[in-house]
Amino acid sequence: MRTLVTGGAGFLGSHLCERLLREGHEVICLDNFFSGKRENVAHLREHPRFELIRHDIVEPILLEVDRIFHLACPASPVHYQYNPVKTIKTSVMGTINMLGLAKRVKARILLSSTSEVYGDPEEHPQRETYWGHVNPIGVRSCYDEGKRVAECLMMDYHRQNNVEIRIVRIFNTYGPRMAINDGRVVSNFCVAALRNQPIPIYGDGAQTRSFAYVDDTIDGLVRMMEAEDFIGPVNIGNPDEFTIAELAELTLELTGSKSTLAYHPAPPDDPVRRRPDITLARTRLGWEPKTALRDGLARTIAHFRQELGIPAS
Ligand code: NAD
Ligand code: UDP
Repeated sequence: MRTLVTGGAGFLGSHLCERLLREGHEVICLDNFFSGKRENVAHLREHPRFELIRHDIVEPILLEVDRIFHLACPASPVHYQYNPVKTIKTSVMGTINMLGLAKRVKARILLSSTSEVYGDPEEHPQRETYWGHVNPIGVRSCYDEGKRVAECLMMDYHRQNNVEIRIVRIFNTYGPRMAINDGRVVSNFCVAALRNQPIPIYGDGAQTRSFAYVDDTIDGLVRMMEAEDFIGPVNIGNPDEFTIAELAELTLELTGSKSTLAYHPAPPDDPVRRRPDITLARTRLGWEPKTALRDGLARTIAHFRQELGIPAS
């Protein structure tokens, strides 16, 4: 299989490239290095079946591939709100370009959509049948609505042009190789704790998220790509739900940090609760997460210790 990974130099993309190479794929990694970096795939550069292309998916590209994992899009609020017009262009024009490619070469394409399509959900836990509660004009909408349009485009290319599609709604995923400046909660908490700086809690810390370890999420993506007669959307996430305050306490415990907690105002439209219903992934893909937060967080902390050059205490 010749497999294209858009956003392949990002956090999830680089883990996916590794996994696909292990499974014998020829991997083309395409990235504009906005929130990803060459170093994430530097160890793959000499691999005979790996190729790295610098390209922005807002522009079309001609390639011959069998599979497309379409991940390119900044995922951290800090990054996707930096240039919101570019974010929505990436989701809309970028997805049209990738669907056009899939149509031309008859490749199967998987979209990494997001739990953000559910917005600040009024249904809990969230099932795939839930249509969501998204503010269309808020600061998160460049990302949320961008992904909703991307899902719409996937479905329309499927219905209109018979493109083979797969849609995965990924819930908060963390793990080694998140950037120090990523801005999402797990990396921010690990880095602050290891530096003994205050842990920044936005809001009162009672809001919840359900955290999946990167290997589990990647396994879900790979299973979904190879699933037959199932286009999704499917939730891929860990149903163990934690408050942000609980995540802070666990990070302090596992790092042995002396950091205090620093409370900041909640960002606008911050979802209050989030937890996937993964019945569909369990029944259709035989998938469920294997890594508990405590174990995955310990591995992630080890990664950040190394990145920051902080020896184990
Ligand atoms: P990331 O920011 O580390 O990776 C995104 C990659 O896409 C980066 O390498 C970036 O440089 C690249 N990119 C962005 N715009 C591009 C463009 N116009 N052209 C080419 N490349 C571009 O984020 P991630 O966590 O690895 O997320 C990967 C995908 O998974 C995203 O589509 C994201 O929406 C989705 N997702 C991730 C999570 C999560 O918790 N990690 C949750 C839900 C959905
Ligand atoms: N958050 C926080 N401190 C941080 C970063 C994030 O308290 O340093 C909160 C944020 O307000 C949200 C939750 O943690 O309630 C998850 O935020 P993240 O940006 O990781 O992901 P998302 O909101 O997109 O799920």
